[in-house]
Amino acid sequence: MLERARELDAADPLSTFRTRFALPEGVIYLDGNSLGALPKAAIERVQQVVTGEWGKGLIRSWNDADWIGLPQRIGAKIAPLIGAQPNEVIVADSVSVNLFKLMSAALQMRPGRKIILSEPGNFPTDVYMIQGLEAQGLAEQRLVNRDNLAVALDSDVALLLLTHVHYKSGAMHDMAALTKAAHDVGALVLWDLSHTGGAMPVDLNGVDADFAVGCGYKYLCGGPGAPAYAFVAERHHDKLHQPLSGWMGHARPFAFRDDYEAAPGVDRLLCGTPQILSMSALEVGVDLIAEIGVERLYAKSQALSEFFLECLAEHGLALELASPANSTERGSQLSFRHEHAYAICQALIACGVIGDFRDPDILRLGFAPAYLRFEDMAKAAGHLAEVLSSGEWKRPEFNQRAAVT
Ligand SMILES: *Cc1c(COP(=O)(O)O)cnc(C)c1O
Repeated sequence: MLERARELDAADPLSTFRTRFALPEGVIYLDGNSLGALPKAAIERVQQVVTGEWGKGLIRSWNDADWIGLPQRIGAKIAPLIGAQPNEVIVADSVSVNLFKLMSAALQMRPGRKIILSEPGNFPTDVYMIQGLEAQGLAEQRLVNRDNLAVALDSDVALLLLTHVHYKSGAMHDMAALTKAAHDVGALVLWDLSHTGGAMPVDLNGVDADFAVGCGYKYLCGGPGAPAYAFVAERHHDKLHQPLSGWMGHARPFAFRDDYEAAPGVDRLLCGTPQILSMSALEVGVDLIAEIGVERLYAKSQALSEFFLECLAEHGLALELASPANSTERGSQLSFRHEHAYAICQALIACGVIGDFRDPDILRLGFAPAYLRFEDMAKAAGHLAEVLSSGEWKRPEFNQRAAVT
């Protein structure tokens, strides 16, 4: 398989982009869906922002280096990756905080309705944020298995909140069909694109989506804790009231008025001062992903995961796939269910294959297509076969669960 892998790498139009990332020797990194790899250009960029813009420019850099424009500027660069217009996306805060802002705004736009519909097993923060609104008496959560979502949409639902690509299984929702079903009952839709943005194209305006949020530190390679992004369809801009009415979302923040007046458009989603160092790193990641192009990235990620499955079959491994078998129905990852997934994951990490474990029994392997090779697939499958056949994972140190994984 290694030979075949090298042929595929030689024919891969994206193969040269790997050199644009600083990847450690001897590591096969299958966790770019949790923390994207470091673009080499980010090292220099962050240094320049720290020593030049901050160190020498000091407060002048808010204007001279356009720090003040970063949330909009990066938002406009993310927009084409998700089918949005440049003025519909802004970078700010975390996904969790943006969920709060947009869910609150959506509830206000649907007076008389309180239900936020989502699915059990959604990424925890999405559901926890609904529960926070519920505790304030502002919302009621309704969690329904994905097969029954369309039936659960009724005239009490204010908002449908779903993660497009499921973090654990990689299963992808039909964004167009669910958005339409929600609109048919007068509900709004908020898509969490954390496992989508930067890995595959989506067309928010093409499906008539209302709101979206997404993560900066996964496929966009923005660095640990990179700020998130938020999308609001232009048709909602004037009616959007979000409760975190901080000064940066004011129409004229530097007029220092006593009364809040929301800035036009998505700018009103800003709350406090933007995180300039993190945003500077994020911009490098977004530029690189945009340069490669999400269509090409998606095509490669499908090819990588299909090839990985072929390699497993070659080794005679029949692992239980927890992701959709059809590559068009999943995101850029493969998840496998195994009773000893935790120990297997640890044993793999010890061989330099970094994937992750998701409680209780999922081994999750992410195929970030910007920097992975087919060769990595063949080698990772080989290591997995070795770990399983040797019983390596049974060693006590691999079964010792750390408090934080
Ligand atoms: C990673 C992830 C988040 C992250 O939320 P933060 O508040 O930015 O930490 C949210 N939703 C989903 C689906 C994710 O995968």
